[in-house]
Amino acid sequence: MLKVERVSKHFGGVYANRDVSLDVAEGELRGVIGPNGAGKSTLFNLIAGHLRPDAGSISLAGAHIDRLPPHVRARRGVAIVFQGARLFAGMSLLQNVMVGAHAQSRAGLVSAAFRPPAQRREEREIRATAEQCLDRVGLLELADRPAEGLPLGQQRRLQVARALAGRPRLLLLDEPASGLRAAERTQLADLIRELNGAGTTILLVEHDVGMVTSLAHRITVLDLGAVIADGTPAEVTSDPAVVKAYLGT
Ligand code: ADP
Ligand code: MG
Repeated sequence: MLKVERVSKHFGGVYANRDVSLDVAEGELRGVIGPNGAGKSTLFNLIAGHLRPDAGSISLAGAHIDRLPPHVRARRGVAIVFQGARLFAGMSLLQNVMVGAHAQSRAGLVSAAFRPPAQRREEREIRATAEQCLDRVGLLELADRPAEGLPLGQQRRLQVARALAGRPRLLLLDEPASGLRAAERTQLADLIRELNGAGTTILLVEHDVGMVTSLAHRITVLDLGAVIADGTPAEVTSDPAVVKAYLGT
């Protein structure tokens, strides 16, 4: 489904990604771990198209996507929930998700206010899709309340709903559980497992190694921009190089 081949990206003198290769099978839930500054967010931004690699290639379902802008990659099924992603506080939960859905529609968000009648049907479809997405993350009852003041656990699930609006085949989640309390974490982990079970391929960056090892089929470990290990949770967590670089600290 996803093939990242020898990708590098530097910012000035810092190699954020160095010769990174990654092969993710369709239906897989892949964990990506590593210390702060290891290059995890950079890798996700390269895959989603918000950064361009200096070298290497990225393909999705056999087609190169390297040169496509982020919105085109989104239409091909790549969705990202950014680390520390924000919501539109003044909008309702439903509107927050509809913004995600509009970004995927042919017309796009900009023209939403000037829709001819032919597009009203699309508008209704977008609303229905947004409601389905809220339902999948367990927030449908709260659809019309403002996003402002939402507990952090619900904010994160709303961000997932927004990403789902694009009907992704590949969902990139960058530290979705950071700052969550134990109960919220469990709820989010259940949701991630459920989405993956329903067929969405998922890449999960998470600081909580326990959460990653319990969810992921395989884990890729980054350190200083490079892949230092790749394997099953058991293989990776017993790898001396991983323990030294990451788990031991
Ligand atoms: P992680 O998500 O694993 O914490 P990042 O991908 O955010 O790591 O960062 C990897 C390295 O690249 C870090 O040294 C970081 O400071 C640097 N970096 C990331 N983004 C930028 C940027 N836009 N400009 C300059 N340096 C950056
Ligand atoms: Mg990061």
